[in-house]
Amino acid sequence: MSAEVSTVPVAVRVSAKINLFLGVGRRGEDGYHPLATVFEAIGLHDVVTATARTDDAITVTTSGEDADEVPDDWTNLAVRAADLLRCARRHPHLGVDLHIDKAIPVAGGMAGGSADAAGALLACSVVWGLDASAEELHDLATQLGSDVPFCLMGGVALGTGRGEHLVPVPTPATHTWVVATAHEGLSTPSVFGRFDDLGDVHEVCVPTPLIAALATSDAEDIADVMGNDLQPAAVSLRPDLADVLAQGQRAGAHAALVSGSGPTCVFLTPDESAAHRIAAQLVQLPQVRTTRIATGPVAGAQLLPNAVGS
Ligand code: ATP
Repeated sequence: MSAEVSTVPVAVRVSAKINLFLGVGRRGEDGYHPLATVFEAIGLHDVVTATARTDDAITVTTSGEDADEVPDDWTNLAVRAADLLRCARRHPHLGVDLHIDKAIPVAGGMAGGSADAAGALLACSVVWGLDASAEELHDLATQLGSDVPFCLMGGVALGTGRGEHLVPVPTPATHTWVVATAHEGLSTPSVFGRFDDLGDVHEVCVPTPLIAALATSDAEDIADVMGNDLQPAAVSLRPDLADVLAQGQRAGAHAALVSGSGPTCVFLTPDESAAHRIAAQLVQLPQVRTTRIATGPVAGAQLLPNAVGS
């Protein structure tokens, strides 16, 4: 083990993302769909804690909501992130015990796995004393998945390419969201597969009206230009989502949208008291498992106080 490795665990808080806009183009020959998306990080958080080991093993344990649905092997994106970092630095002997305390819904279209990968990159960089730069972490994040770079960065950002080319989008306002989770997740590849089958594809364009609306603090202006090209595919796989979306709008939400590939639905609300009212109505629906109220934008991956290097 190298001398800089910390004996003190390092904890990083990561945030869920929603897509205020998700434009999806035709699948390319490389199998990927070009995207133009606007991400917002919201206040639903996982905490990834890294404790250095004296051998080269990488382990992961989980706690919190849905913890039993999170893989505890090398398919866990946080484990892959730790391994990628040590390999990139040519320190394959470094080992770590990762613990993930989950609050981001699993397979909910809120990038929970990607957020944990971002958290593991930052936590391992610190606990192993590697002091990776933001640029290095971004490059590694890109190799792990198209949502991982945004999960490092947080805030509001325009993502193009596969979502990994990020430009921050300034917005002065805080948005209050209701997040309605479903009883069962939806697999992202199956939603993209249905999107391909539906065949309603157009050129992806940067959503300039949304970027302009975000520069104001008017939630109704923002709501008017939000959108998700994957929503018809998600609703076609899970028709009962249509009712959840309609119910949220009837209850007073400015906008109702499937989050990413779903099945989580998100509702932009006028204020916190409206959010509580909308959440209370949505949770009555049989297809809604839980509702949460979260504000955004919030930061991306952040060292928690008392961590080494914070
Ligand atoms: P995205 O919006 O990025 O497509 P998602 O939010 O819909 O993803 P995740 O919560 O990331 O979905 O989980 C998708 C699958 O990834 C899960 O079913 C699980 O098997 C796997 N997975 C791997 N690592 C993790 C992790 N750390 N947390 C949650 N799921 C993980």
